Amino acid sequence: MTADLQSPAFTDNNAAREAMEAVLWPNGPECPRCVSTERIGKMAAKSARPGLYYCGQCKRQFSVTVGTIFERSHIKLHKWFQAAHLMASSKKGISAHQLHRTLKVTYKTAWFMEHRLREAMRELHPDTPLGGKGKTIEMDETFVGGLEKNKHRSKRQHQGTGGAGKEAVYSLVERGGNVRSHHVPAVNTDNLRPIIEAQIDGATVVYTDEGGASKKLGRLFEKHDSVNHSLGEYVRGPVHTNTIEGYFSILKRGINGVYHHVSQQHLKRYLAEFDFRYNERAALGVDDKARADRLIRGIVGKRLMYKDSSLAST
Ligand SMILES: [Zn+2]
Repeated sequence: MTADLQSPAFTDNNAAREAMEAVLWPNGPECPRCVSTERIGKMAAKSARPGLYYCGQCKRQFSVTVGTIFERSHIKLHKWFQAAHLMASSKKGISAHQLHRTLKVTYKTAWFMEHRLREAMRELHPDTPLGGKGKTIEMDETFVGGLEKNKHRSKRQHQGTGGAGKEAVYSLVERGGNVRSHHVPAVNTDNLRPIIEAQIDGATVVYTDEGGASKKLGRLFEKHDSVNHSLGEYVRGPVHTNTIEGYFSILKRGINGVYHHVSQQHLKRYLAEFDFRYNERAALGVDDKARADRLIRGIVGKRLMYKDSSLAST
């Protein structure tokens, strides 16, 4: 990663733009308005901004960043590029303070960039149900944040409320597949049932621990089983929640160790960040560069909205 940061795309605006073009337009420039790849010309005049193209179809100019946050933010592209690579490759995340020092931008700018990148990660979340026939999902809750002195209380003591200022997170993870995490006001069947019904295919095998809400919700599925952690039972054949516990341990090390203060208002974005890295993990064959490229595509993907509205108005 350190060596990779020597790439011109991390230090030079034009090189970053060209790197983005390579990621977004593997088959050559594409007009973001009419999606045409034909009759596209490069604006060659000396006075033209580098990276500007002309679409002969809709007779307008565009660039790889037109209509995206990259264009609107006034932050140099190579800084965005570096931020996306750092966030995509840091297992526990990267604090806005660290990013501020690394990119030599203000803390406020670093904070803004991180949240925009998290939003892009959120956009990348598919909303089709997880699981299916022959698939296994583990689901469980955890609590994050809160005051340091209360961090060592067990989740059972909070009785599903996330007491002591902690926020409740409920996650579903498909073994060998994706995770989806949700910030919920409290862990109870009323809050969780709509999430679970929308996000887990009914034919899935679901494993939980004996926690009240999880066990009740597990019964919505044809095949459900649970292990009783309070009786010291953690694994019974295939029945365990080790996958989700592993995910929670990364999440908590990041939220507690790197981000320190995660406000209630922004927690959903932090969850999207950890979910994104897990879903694009090395074990599934995704390396640091591929993960960062996907994030860049996610940001530019937001242009779709812009594209649709511009088409509707003409
Ligand atoms: Zn066009």
